[in-house]
Amino acid sequence: MIVKHKKTLTEVYNKLFDHFGKRYWWPAETPFEVVVGAVLTQQTKWENVEQAIHNLKERKLMDAESLSRADVEELEELVRCTGFFRQKANRLKNISRFFAQNPGILEKPADELRKVLLSLNGVGEETADSIVLYAADKPKFVIDAYTKRMCGCLGIEGNYSELQSFFESSLPVDVPLYKEYHALIVEYGKRFCGKKICPDCILVENGKM
Ligand code: SF4
Repeated sequence: MIVKHKKTLTEVYNKLFDHFGKRYWWPAETPFEVVVGAVLTQQTKWENVEQAIHNLKERKLMDAESLSRADVEELEELVRCTGFFRQKANRLKNISRFFAQNPGILEKPADELRKVLLSLNGVGEETADSIVLYAADKPKFVIDAYTKRMCGCLGIEGNYSELQSFFESSLPVDVPLYKEYHALIVEYGKRFCGKKICPDCILVENGKM
């Protein structure tokens, strides 16, 4: 892990919050909807996920029991708009079966829950941590591609777990803060990093520290 940054993570948070304000993320009616969204959002835009969630709700499949029993071909059609639809339909079947069989799973302590989620097919670290933070309301900082990129620009280099430990040890253990911070990074990543408008970066000057 390399840390050469000059700004603290709290300064970065304040800059992002001042710029965007509260993000109200994750937009879901139930914790299970967060789980579904976390699987569907892999390698696609959120707008596509919204469409798929709408489709699932229309078919009354937004609960673990119903989704686990859904016809897989119908499911593929409902989530086709998110890409990798066969793989995602299968993942949704598996994860919903697991949630249907383990209704109290989100009550487990964060690390235990994370470990269980990571053992499920198609659930990687970012997906597991999104579920722990946004569905279970437990303190796990989510690291995504935008977070890695932003950290790189700030002189903070590391792998997933190193970056996660860095955020968690630098910030107070605060679920709403973790939720808001990740949402702000994603918003910033979409509007600035992804569009390569580094000369206007509010975190580093002229694309440099
Ligand atoms: S806008 Fe550019 S310089 Fe700023 S954090 Fe994103 S990638 Fe880095």
